[in-house]
Amino acid sequence: MILSQDLVERVNRAVRPDRLTELAVELIRIPSPTQNAAEVADRLAEFLADEGFDVGRPEAAWPRSPAVVTRYETGVAGRTLQFNGHLDTVHLPFVAPHIEDGFLYGSGASDMKAGVAAMCEALLAVRDAGVLEAGGILLTAHDLHEAPWGQGQQLSALIEEGYVGDAALLPEYLSSILPVVGRGMANVEVTLSRQGSPVHEVLGGLEQPRVIAAGADLVTRLDAADRSLTGDTHPLAGRESIFIGKVAGGEIYNQSPTEFRLAGTCRWLPGTPVDMVRKRFRDAVDGMRQRPGIQVDAQFHYRRGAFEMDLEHPLVGAFDDSCQAVMGRTLAHGAKPFIDDGNTLMELAGIEAITHGPNATGAHTTSERVPLDDLVRVARVYACTAVAFCGG
Ligand SMILES: [Zn+2]
Repeated sequence: MILSQDLVERVNRAVRPDRLTELAVELIRIPSPTQNAAEVADRLAEFLADEGFDVGRPEAAWPRSPAVVTRYETGVAGRTLQFNGHLDTVHLPFVAPHIEDGFLYGSGASDMKAGVAAMCEALLAVRDAGVLEAGGILLTAHDLHEAPWGQGQQLSALIEEGYVGDAALLPEYLSSILPVVGRGMANVEVTLSRQGSPVHEVLGGLEQPRVIAAGADLVTRLDAADRSLTGDTHPLAGRESIFIGKVAGGEIYNQSPTEFRLAGTCRWLPGTPVDMVRKRFRDAVDGMRQRPGIQVDAQFHYRRGAFEMDLEHPLVGAFDDSCQAVMGRTLAHGAKPFIDDGNTLMELAGIEAITHGPNATGAHTTSERVPLDDLVRVARVYACTAVAFCGG
C-alpha cells in the first residue's frame, strides 16, 4: 500500500485548518448566484496564484464568469486526479458567512464553497508536503451548475476543451457513503390549454373545454405509469420513477381557466435507455382521454445520465485506502441520491468520478451549515486519494 503511516501523517500535518477556513469564508463572502460567479472565481484564481500556481481562466462557453483551472504536476509519468467543484449557488437571499461552535454558515457553505476550499487545501497540502511521486492534480472550478439557472454547460465545455483528469473527486455534501451508482434524471413539464380567455362559470365557463378535468386525467395516468415501475429495483439505487411535484390551474372557484400546468421528474436506473424513459412519459401523456378544444404541450428535458461505477477502477481502491488511512474505516457502498457534475464527468468525459464532501446540511436553503473539522477530514482524504491514485 502506497499510503504508509508516515506519509499519511505528513499529509495530515500539511493540511492547514486555518488556511482552509479562511478561504471558505472568503468564497462564501462573495455572492455568486448561478450565472454570476465571476467575482468569486476571480478571488479563487487570485488565491491560487498567490500560492504560486499557474491559473488558467478558460471561458468555457460562459465568458461572463470564466472558469478557474490549475494543475500541480510532478513531471513524472502517472495518472492525473481531477478535483472539481462549482462556485455558483442557488438563487436564494444571500446569507453572509459566520462561524459558531465549530460550524461555518452562509450561502454556499454546504453547496459547495466550503467543499471547494477543502479541495484547494488538499492541492496545497500535497504540494507543501511533497508527497506526490508521479502524475498530478487538475483542479477545476466553474459556474452554471445549479438548475434551472444553469444546466452544467460550463463543465461540459471544459470537458470538450480537454480539462479532464483520469478520474475525479467532487466535494459535494455527501459524506456517509461511497456512491457507486446513481439514477439519471429528466425534468418533465406538461401544459394543457384551451383557446380564449378565463370566463365566469355562469357566463359561459361551464361550456368551455375543461383543462382541470384533463389535468386530473393526466395526473392519474402519470401516477399509474409510476406505479407500474415499482417492480424493477436496484439493490442500492432503488427504483425508476415518474414524480409529480407541482400542479397549477385556475384562479378562483367560479372561473373557467385556460391552462393547467404540471411539473415533475423522471428518474431511471443505469442500463435503461433514455429513449425508453422518454417514451414511457409520452405514452402516459398520449393516453389521456381525447378532449376537443384542449391542446397538450409535453416537454421532456434530459438533465444527467445514470451511472454505475467500475468497482475495479483504481480510483475506488485509492479512495478506500485513503478513507481507511484518514478515518480508520472505509465507506459502505450506496447510491447517490441526487444528480451532480460527477454524472456529467462520467457520461461526457468517460472517467470515474466520486462525489465525496463534508457532512454539511441545508443545501438549497438559507440555513447551510458545515462542520469545520469535517472540512479538514475532506482535505486529508482528497490529498491521500491523490497520492494513492496518481502514484498507484
Ligand atoms: Zn452543489
